Amino acid sequence: MSKPDIKPPPLRNDCFALPAGVNWTPVDEALDLLQQRLTVVAASEITPLTQATGRILAADIYANRSNPPQPNTAVDGYGFAGAALDGAQVLPLHAGRAAAGIPFDGAVPPGHALRVLTGATLPDGVDTVILEEDVTVQDGHIAFHGPLKQGANTRNAGEDVLAGQLVLPAGRKLTPADLALLSATGIAEVAVRQALRVAVLSTGDELVEPGAPAGPGQIFDANRPMLLSLIERMGFCPLDMGRVADDRDVLRDCLNAAAGQADVILTSGGASAGDEDHVSALLRQAGAMQEWRIALKPGRPLALGMWNGTPVFGLPGNPVAALVCTLIFARPALGLMAGEGWRNPQGFDLPAAFEKRKKPGRREYLRARIRDGQAEVFASEGSGRISGLSWAEGLVEIEDGARHIKPGDRVRFIPYGSFGL
Ligand code: AMP
Ligand code: MG
Repeated sequence: MSKPDIKPPPLRNDCFALPAGVNWTPVDEALDLLQQRLTVVAASEITPLTQATGRILAADIYANRSNPPQPNTAVDGYGFAGAALDGAQVLPLHAGRAAAGIPFDGAVPPGHALRVLTGATLPDGVDTVILEEDVTVQDGHIAFHGPLKQGANTRNAGEDVLAGQLVLPAGRKLTPADLALLSATGIAEVAVRQALRVAVLSTGDELVEPGAPAGPGQIFDANRPMLLSLIERMGFCPLDMGRVADDRDVLRDCLNAAAGQADVILTSGGASAGDEDHVSALLRQAGAMQEWRIALKPGRPLALGMWNGTPVFGLPGNPVAALVCTLIFARPALGLMAGEGWRNPQGFDLPAAFEKRKKPGRREYLRARIRDGQAEVFASEGSGRISGLSWAEGLVEIEDGARHIKPGDRVRFIPYGSFGL
């Protein structure tokens, strides 16, 4: 059989450049759009403080009580009124003492001192405390050297927090230290957001379950375990919707089921414009699909759409791109929908331990980690190198423009922890 006379398409001058005439959205612009268009979807509920770590506050919290509630002593020692002048001081000891939780009942006369223990409310007639280590006690008197400022070694009522003051704002993700602050200011229960439910599904005829028999051409589903655990680590509620073959009807059913249970759907694979890219095809059919050609590496078009009113993040199938797109785009978007507001991941600059020439046009994220105070990057930038994801402890972010990074130049490192992992 003779071969048909087909010519390959001519090479384009710009075949290694970004497609001409196509509008690549810069990362910051894409993030701005997400921030503008998304809103909080998580409902709120009341929870006891003891179960509130990691939950997101649904309302501002104001102190029920000042901390400290009364002026008290910061040390074990002896309390009296007024400043002690320079030189040797001798004061008669007044009978009794003040301890934490057991206040002194009465007033200390001027020129007298009272035994006080850390945390004790200052009795009337006491506004200054001398440390017990600095005192000699003898014959019913204390002796010490001045000078001592009026108010020394004491804490003022409300010097930390005043009753009625804003303690923590809505959107705060509660930390263990926050529980101390809330307890101290008299808060026993808080209004928090219900955990955002995030459905995760993988697409691709080639995928099999890790550990299952895998034939030629098949690969184990690496994205689903990663995405489910990312969701959990970020404090959201993961819903495992399983794997779907490249079959439009099955995928449609799966998206329907996911939209019925979840606040957000994350898919991986099938998100670009190929023959087997059914996620984008279905979203396009539903008439609510945006193909976001984001100027980002690694990452192919991200398919963003609505399915029965539920937002869908169609992530690239490539595990490296799937992780980067999840951290850079889905993470802040999910946080906003979950009620914590839009949060940009915090990075910091440190010297590069590598050299790299970067062309202008796309922002790049490299798998990176810190050793000896320098940012190392994974030996290969290959986007199929899953081992590099696991090797890394964060990402180096290289700005959109051209850059020639030499060892010792400063680069921006964003630790995985900044994404809430
Ligand atoms: P796609 O975005 O569907 O064109 O997939 C891009 C590449 O990622 C292909 O090599 C897929 O085999 C691979 N891939 C897609 N989904 C997964 C997955 N869940 N785990 C591992 N690799 C995947
Ligand atoms: Mg695929």
